[in-house]
Amino acid sequence: MERNHDYLFMADAMLGKIARKLRMFGFDTIYDPNIDDIDILASAKCKGRIVLTSDRLLFNKCKKNGVDTILIAKETEIENLVTIFSTLNIKSVNSQNVPYLCTCCNGLLDTIKDKNSIKDHIPARLLQSGKIFYMCTNCKKIYWRGTHMENISSLIKGINIKLKSLN
Ligand SMILES: [Zn+2]
Repeated sequence: MERNHDYLFMADAMLGKIARKLRMFGFDTIYDPNIDDIDILASAKCKGRIVLTSDRLLFNKCKKNGVDTILIAKETEIENLVTIFSTLNIKSVNSQNVPYLCTCCNGLLDTIKDKNSIKDHIPARLLQSGKIFYMCTNCKKIYWRGTHMENISSLIKGINIKLKSLN
C-alpha cells in the first residue's frame, strides 16, 4: 500500500478522532496531543502540512504565517470531515483501501500473508474466520475488517453523499 501524498495534515490536540479517521482513509496525518501551537506552526510550515484546528487563534496564526489551515468548527464529525474534503476540492473518499494507515501511529499497513505469524495475538476463532488481517509496519498493531470497518464504510458513504450534494 502507498500513502496518499497529495495532502499532508497536522491535527491539533483536540482533534484525535478526526486524525484517526483521516489516517484510516489514507491521509498522512500527524497528531500529538501534547504538541503546542508553536511546534504545530513550525512543523506544518517546514513539512507543508495543512493544519486542522478547532482553535480560532491558532487558525489565525497559521493564516498570518502563510500556513495552510482549515477551521474545524462544525458540530458533528461527519460535517467536519466534509468541510476538510470540500475545502480541498476532494470529490469523494475511496473506501476500497480502508484501513490504510495505522490509526495509532500513522504508519503504513501491510496485508498479512502468513496468518500463522499472528496466531499468538489473535483468537483462533477470529483467525479462522477468513478475514483479511493487516499489520502496521511501524508499531505492529494488527487490524482486520470487521464491524468497526463496516461503520467506517457507512461513514465514508455518508461523507460521499454530502460531498456530491455540494457540487
Ligand atoms: Zn502503527
